[in-house]
Amino acid sequence: MLRVVVLGAAAGGGIPQWNCGCPVCTKARSETPELQSSQASIAVSADGAHWFLINASPDLRQQLIATPQLHPKRGELRHSPVAGVILTNGEIDAIAGLLSMREGSPFTIYAHQRVLAILKSNSVFDVLSEKNVARRPITVDRAFEPALPDGSPSGLEVLPFEVPGKGAWYLEGKAHPAGNDGAGDTLGLRIAEKASGKYFYFLAACARVTDDLKSRLAGAPLVFFDGTVWRDDELIAAGLGNKTGQGMGHISMSGGHGAIESLAGLDIRRKLFLHINNSNPALLKDSPERQAAERAGWQIPADGMEIEL
Ligand SMILES: [Zn+2]
Repeated sequence: MLRVVVLGAAAGGGIPQWNCGCPVCTKARSETPELQSSQASIAVSADGAHWFLINASPDLRQQLIATPQLHPKRGELRHSPVAGVILTNGEIDAIAGLLSMREGSPFTIYAHQRVLAILKSNSVFDVLSEKNVARRPITVDRAFEPALPDGSPSGLEVLPFEVPGKGAWYLEGKAHPAGNDGAGDTLGLRIAEKASGKYFYFLAACARVTDDLKSRLAGAPLVFFDGTVWRDDELIAAGLGNKTGQGMGHISMSGGHGAIESLAGLDIRRKLFLHINNSNPALLKDSPERQAAERAGWQIPADGMEIEL
C-alpha cells in the first residue's frame, strides 16, 4: 500500500505568516484557527514503517511532532522512521528543515545536482555530516528507488522530471553555484509503489502546464499541484508585495492558463492543491474562489491529511 501524509499545505511563510495582517492570516490567528497551516511537505511510505519526506520545510520539527507515523519507535533510545528526504527545489521552504535533522540519525538526501550544489556551497548544511547523511544526485527522467539507511530497498520508485519554474529567490541576480542555465531547478515527481504499481504525482511548484505535463498527468489517480495563488497579481492587488505568481515561478489556480482550467478533462481522479499562499482566497471555506475550486474537483488539504492508494 502506498501511504501519503500531508505534513503541510501552505506556501513559504505558512499560515499565518509571522508578519502578515491579511484577512486570511488574521482569521487564522483568531476566530478560525483551523486555517493555520505549515509549509508544504508530504511524507510517503510503501511499508508504513519507513518514510521519505518530499521537501524539508522550516516547520519540519513541528510537523514531525504532529505526525505519529514519524515518531521514534517505542522503546528505542535513538530512532526515526524518516529514511530520506527528496528535494524538488532549492527554496528556503523546501530545504531549511534539513537543519532540524542534525542530531546524528542516518538518512539520505536525494536532490538534483543544482540543489546539491546549493547545499554544498552553504557551510551551515555541513551540520549534516556526510558520514550519516549521504547526498545522492537524482537525474531528470531517470527513475530511482530510494534506499533505507541500511541500504535495503524502500519499495518506492521515484521519477523526477523537469517542470517550468524559477531558481531559488535568494539566488536571483546572483551566480548559481551550479551555473546559470536553470535546468533542474524545479522538479515534479512521479512516486510509485513498485509492488502494486500504484502511483501519484507531486508538483509543489510549476509555472505553467505544458502539453508534456498534461500527457504525464492524464489519468493519474492522485495529483498534488501548485496552488500558490488564486490569481497572478493577488499579492500586488492586496498590497502584500510586488511579486506576481509568475514572477515567483507559480501558476495561478484560476484563469485561462491557470491550473484548474489547464488540468480539467485529464481524467485525474483526485486533485489536491499544495503550497497555498496566505494571500489565496480559496483558503477561506465560504469564499466564491473556494467554491469554484471545489466545483472543479479540487481539494484544499488540511495538515495531517492521510491518503492511502
Ligand atoms: Zn497573510
